[in-house]
Formats: sequence, structure tokens, C-alpha cells
Amino acid sequence: MAIDLIIRGGTVVTATERRTEDVAVEAGRIVEVGARLAAPADAREVDASGLLVLPGVVDVHTHTRVASDESPDRFFQDSVAAAFGGTTTFLAFNNPGTGSDQTGSLPSDATAWRRQTDSDSAVDYGLNLVLQPAHADNLAAEIPAVIEMGVPTFKAFMVYDFGLPPAAIGVALRAAARARGMLMVHGEDRAALEANIARLKAQGKTQPRYHAQSRPPYVEAAGTRMAVEMARAEDAPVYLVHLSSQEALAEVEKGRAVGGQVFVETCPHFLVLDESRYLLPDAQCACFVISPPLRSPADRDALWEALAHGALNAVSTDHVPDTVADKRGWDECFDLISNGAPGIETLLTNVYGQGVARGRLTVERMVDVLSTTPARLFGLPSKGAIEPGKDADLVLFDPQERRTVTQAELHHTSDFTPYEGLATSGIVRSTIVRGEFVIRDGHFVGRRGHGQFQERRLTWR
Ligand SMILES: [Zn+2]
Repeated sequence: MAIDLIIRGGTVVTATERRTEDVAVEAGRIVEVGARLAAPADAREVDASGLLVLPGVVDVHTHTRVASDESPDRFFQDSVAAAFGGTTTFLAFNNPGTGSDQTGSLPSDATAWRRQTDSDSAVDYGLNLVLQPAHADNLAAEIPAVIEMGVPTFKAFMVYDFGLPPAAIGVALRAAARARGMLMVHGEDRAALEANIARLKAQGKTQPRYHAQSRPPYVEAAGTRMAVEMARAEDAPVYLVHLSSQEALAEVEKGRAVGGQVFVETCPHFLVLDESRYLLPDAQCACFVISPPLRSPADRDALWEALAHGALNAVSTDHVPDTVADKRGWDECFDLISNGAPGIETLLTNVYGQGVARGRLTVERMVDVLSTTPARLFGLPSKGAIEPGKDADLVLFDPQERRTVTQAELHHTSDFTPYEGLATSGIVRSTIVRGEFVIRDGHFVGRRGHGQFQERRLTWR
């Protein structure tokens, strides 16, 4: 064996256990995990004693923006931010607003996005294709074609101007299921939402805080119920993105109880923040305009519970690299504010610091929801675990270190973080992608283009 890197004496964590062991790496892959492994004299040795050795985080929900003439570094920069946060693979959407070419054809969209991101990432990455009204007539033919291209996961929005009408969502669920793909759904009821927005506007309630009142939990629950029932009707799996409320979770549980194959993620902002942010002055409040909106402390606690006990399958960021300036529009009406907030760099520290360190989640369960399950569900068989044969995507994490999250110390393309001032414990020391350090002792040592596009197959289907 030509071991070239050996991580010594860390606490190696998997989805089921933790042990003090060494990890041996050869040509980018893990070749052995065990106590006091022998290694050739020329192997690079890294002392990980006192540290957790975690599989790299797999963030399946980001809206990273592709390079543009004005911002040639933005995709790369967010990939570096991901690495600083311990994320070794991220999946991006190509929705309007990300700078991706919108061709009206799914295979052309996929090809264009690959060209626009080629050799531009510091960590591994992949694509979830966004289905839009322009694709609606060709979904049955084009979905199998792009699954063949290694893009087996799709996103349909029920709301926004690029949302899909229900009939097309049904076609997409069926086409994806038949070709061993999976649809991700943004579940909110469009009719209920639009009625609420119109009512609030008529009442002169246009400030950012009314964003939350336009999207109460029943709007999410109604959309969730529709997605779950449509998937059941098509005998298709479905993945609900960014679940935020107990009401929506109840709809998921109902669907599962009658045999539905329903997977669900939540996001760090729903686990860490709550609706009290909407009491802030308008300009600050606008930075928390996220859909679904931040919920009550009771919802937040219920999500932690559901995460610990398995009702939620994953935590992903819904990273939107908006700046404060992008949040303009708040002085006119809440429905003109760009939705979303950055999070690509703070996922692991949020879930560890607010979850594991506070006894809400075991470290093994954290590994499961951040790495093992998303890798499995999204067709990344070489990712998500520390075992022989997997890619050496590793995070050396210091659980003792305490710090305060602040924009000044982050590397993402946004100019704010929703977690400003949050006291947290645990810090990423080093991040390794396929055996190469990308972050070493808190410094970026990687390179643009090290990240490889992941052609995926949903082998569990
Ligand atoms: Zn999203």
C-alpha cells in the first residue's frame, strides 16, 4: 500500500459510532481506518489528537452564483467559503438570479451550467436542475435525458414567477421516478400566499415584517401536503426542501404513514433563529426575508427534536449569496425583497455549536444528517462517510474552541451573516478534499479547479 497521508489519533466519527483511530489515505481515497496504523516513512502524518475527524459536509441546497463579467470570482469564492465551513461537496441550483444560462431546454441548461462552472470550484460540486414553465412541455422527454448526463435531482417551486403549475409538477414527479431520479419541491401554496399578499397590501402592511404574515405555517403545510399527495399518486419519491414548521412536518408524517417515500431537510436558520427577527427595524428585518419565514421558538425546538429522532433527514443551507444592497425593495413592499440569506460557511458550526454542544443532537446523528444521508440520497456513493474506498473528504474539527460568528471573519460573497454575534462552540481547523488540504489550520491552501463536478446516479432507487 502506498499510503501518502495519515491522520493520526483523532476521534473518527461516523453516523453510528466514534472511535480514536487513524485514517490512511492513498491517491485521494481512504484505504484504511484503524488504531495505530503502520505507514511508510515518506507518508505525510497529521496529528489530529483532541480533534474530531468528520466526513466532509455535503450541502445539497445552495443558490451559488456562476461567474459573471462583473463578478468573475463569485462561484469560486463561495466554494472557498464552503471549504472554510467544512463542506467538501455542494450541490447548486441554476434558478434565475444565479447567472446561469436559461435556455428553455433541460439538457442545454445542464451543459451551459457545467461550462459556466468548469474548473472554478475549490471543492467538489454538482447540479440540481431547476424546472421552470419554459420546460413544462418537454419534461417527460428531457428529464430522463439529463439523468443520463449525471443530473438525477430536480427542483420545482410552487411559488415565484418561475414556479411550476401543479400539472407540470405531477409530470416531473412521474418522469423523474421512472428514470431513477428525484424531485425536490419548494412546498408553499401559491393561491393562499397570493391572497395573503394582496390582503396585507390592501391594508397598507407593506413593511418587511409582513413577509412572515404572508406565509404563515398553513401556507407551507398546504404546499407540503400537495407535494406529498402528488408524489404518492405518481408512486414517486419526493424531497421537501427547507421545512420550517410543525404543521408542515405533520403533513410529511401523514404521507409517510400511508407509505409515501418522503424525504425532508430543514435549514440552519430555522434551527438557530426565530421570528423575533421580524421585530427589528425595517432595513435589518429585510435581511431575514427568507421563505419559508423564520418561525416560532416552539417550531425551532420541534425541528431539533425531529432531527434527533429521524423525522428530518438532512440539514442543508439554502445558501443565497445576497448582499445588504440586494435586499433593497424593503422601502416599497415586502414582496419585492429578494428572498434568502447566506449560510454556506456556517452550516457545520451552527449544527455542532447549537445542536451537538447543547445536547440536542449526538455527534453521530450530526454526521448522518450533514454528510451520510445527503450523500446517499443524492447519489454520491464515494462521499459522506469515513471508510475504506470512500473519497478522503475529511474535516478536522476542534470541538473545544469557542467563538463568536461575525461577518468580518467569513469568506462568502455576502456582506452580512444572519448569525452575526452568535456565540458558538467548535471550529473547523482543516478541510481535506480527495486527500488534498483545501483549508489547513484555518488558512486556505487549496486551488481553483480542484473541485470536480460530480456526475451522480441515485443507486438507492
Ligand atoms: Zn433554496
